[in-house]
Amino acid sequence: MTPVENLCSLCNEPAVVRLVEPERRLCAAHFIEDAGARVLAAMERERMISPGDRVAVGLSGGKDSTALLLLLHRFLPALGAGLVAITVDEGIAGYREETLRAARDLTGELGVEHVIVTFADLFGEDLDTILVGREAQGCTVCGVLRRRALAEAVKRVGATKLATGHNLDDEAQSVLMNVLRGDLPRLRQDTSTGQPGHFVPRIKPLAVLSEKEIVTYLLLRGYFRDLPECPYAGTALRSEVRTMLAGLEHRRPGTMVRLMQFRDGVRESARSAEPAKALSTCRICGELTSGEVCQVCRLLDR
Ligand code: SF4
Repeated sequence: MTPVENLCSLCNEPAVVRLVEPERRLCAAHFIEDAGARVLAAMERERMISPGDRVAVGLSGGKDSTALLLLLHRFLPALGAGLVAITVDEGIAGYREETLRAARDLTGELGVEHVIVTFADLFGEDLDTILVGREAQGCTVCGVLRRRALAEAVKRVGATKLATGHNLDDEAQSVLMNVLRGDLPRLRQDTSTGQPGHFVPRIKPLAVLSEKEIVTYLLLRGYFRDLPECPYAGTALRSEVRTMLAGLEHRRPGTMVRLMQFRDGVRESARSAEPAKALSTCRICGELTSGEVCQVCRLLDR
């Protein structure tokens, strides 16, 4: 017989997870419900979805975007919004092929429209080629180009919102990285409102779930796939910050949530302090930029 302290707080089934704030133990079925309810509550609280929205999910095929697509596929019909999945194929040998297959399998199973854009089509070369001789900058270069590729895919499918699978760990890491880089403008930047005529609002419904919770959710629903890691991942500052933050969270639970509260406080005070800086258009490609030439054109030496 399962001891009482190992039973679900809501029924008599064996607990599979223990959560804090509020402290509770949950069985598989109640954890799946609890995680979904927290994501739905965040979407409603932050008014992420409006009736009539066409939401594009950035689907890499990895764990976060898989969980995001599963949850949005479940909730969007009731919120009166449509769904389309977009995948960016950067051209990373030995990595992207498998995640692309996972993305295709999932959209096929759920019956969700799926559009794939490639770096080769958009920028004339794949990421592996662009990075020759500057592999250590992998994620920096990729991040800039991916953002542009996603924006292009969003335009092609006519989406009104872009949903990305950033989880609580990702968001807390970004806050800390911006602090470590002394990048106050980026710390203050809020992408949830978009830019009229150019960028659609970005939403991050999974930012209330930790990475561990997302893995648990996928394992319990039978969707966890052990996929290869991107070969450039270890080169980033993020990799060091992830290790540091995981240790802090373990010793001081709630660290990541407090970092998010700090970021929200900074954004709130920035909103009331000064109007947002106006953007201009890049003189080479015509996309929005804060300078004369956008980051994409600078990276590609156009
Ligand atoms: Fe791009 Fe870095 Fe992500 Fe790899 S880990 S896909 S290089 S951002």
